[in-house]
Amino acid sequence: MTASKDCRRCALCTGRTNVVMPEGDPSSPIAFVGEAPGAKEDEAGRPFVGLSGRVLNQLLEEEGLYRSKVFITNTVKCRPPGNREPTQAEMDACLPCLESELEGRKVIITLGRSAARDLLKRPVVMRDEVNRPRKITIRGKDAILIPAYHPAASFYNRKVKDSIRESIRNARTYL
Ligand code: SF4
Repeated sequence: MTASKDCRRCALCTGRTNVVMPEGDPSSPIAFVGEAPGAKEDEAGRPFVGLSGRVLNQLLEEEGLYRSKVFITNTVKCRPPGNREPTQAEMDACLPCLESELEGRKVIITLGRSAARDLLKRPVVMRDEVNRPRKITIRGKDAILIPAYHPAASFYNRKVKDSIRESIRNARTYL
């Protein structure tokens, strides 16, 4: 199941400009999952095209994992108003789409707390989880999940970039 451009399964459909579809290599063994589209993403209908996207692109390039070679998506495909976190109900409504996008991937890097919480299906304290790989099962298929900070966190803390870099390196060891 993939999100349709006129999906109305949750309340986020009322405020969006575009449903933000995934991008990158659909057959890549590695996927990045962000929280939700922001204003730029909503406007462009593409994931990670704002400032956070620039940070992610830069780190991917530095690690030789180009954006076009990985799969990039979000827990929910429509922008929450005012950039608030998606609610559990909204993430649950979008989960079938996310699971079909992620089924069969070897490594999934979640970017930020909401994405980790969505896929680990429990509350997450980032400082306790970052860069600690976990085995998860999506539709009967095993995958490694690596919780990473959201690139937006690097705007306030320079060490976050190094941590995300470590997550990317960590992911490569499973490929
Ligand atoms: S967030 Fe997901 S479930 Fe909700 S309207 Fe958008 S595509 Fe549909």
